[in-house]
Amino acid sequence: MTDALKAYISSVLTEGRLDRHATQISRLIMRWFKDQVNVHLGENGYECIDKETGEVFECDVGESYMKTFEYDLGGTLLSVVITHIVTNNKNITSSGSSHRPNQNSKWYNSSSLPSISINVGIPLHLHKALSLSTIHENVIDIVKHELEHIFDDALWKEKHRHPFDIPTLSDAEERPRREGDVRDYFLHPSEIQGWVAGIYKRAKFEKKPFIKLAKEQLIKTLPIEERHHFDEILNAWITYAKKRFPKAKL
Ligand SMILES: [Zn+2]
Repeated sequence: MTDALKAYISSVLTEGRLDRHATQISRLIMRWFKDQVNVHLGENGYECIDKETGEVFECDVGESYMKTFEYDLGGTLLSVVITHIVTNNKNITSSGSSHRPNQNSKWYNSSSLPSISINVGIPLHLHKALSLSTIHENVIDIVKHELEHIFDDALWKEKHRHPFDIPTLSDAEERPRREGDVRDYFLHPSEIQGWVAGIYKRAKFEKKPFIKLAKEQLIKTLPIEERHHFDEILNAWITYAKKRFPKAKL
């Protein structure tokens, strides 16, 4: 077997394994949404029922429910933290983060396990007729994105300018962004990898073209004042996608 063929086979195997983990973790998260917390419109407004304890309580904008479980990545356990937040947004929102253990930075955690955190904001008005497939669509790409980071050794070796030190959208309140921060974040090789793999996963799940979803994602995520970077980022994503998924119709 040639080295090139060996490398090709091992990349296909890795791709398949990561993909399966992302599918399974998303399913476990969806099972929790389905079984654990039930929000419905009662006589006095929205009520949340914790199906585990049977407890009924009022739920309101800002309330959140959290669940942590451990997932076997095959040799290593991964801690998965899922948070359901009740919002007053128009649409479902989702975000994620990933951590590796025992290193001296705010982006590493103190536990002995790597972890991913997935936050799903579900608007109160949508709880009445909550569509699980809509939540699933919002979760699956984030799970894949964060898993990519967990397995991305190069990312965690970076000492000087860690990409996560660039304020992301949720950090912006803590530290004002500098000109170029957002562009640097989206064009960082690890972030290109994470976004493309996540969006590609969702494209397969929703049976939609990758490029269409990539454009929609960027419109949603890129702050308006950063729109002049749109084409540059989109092109970088498409270039990477073509390289990584050479056989796919994008
Ligand atoms: Zn990322």
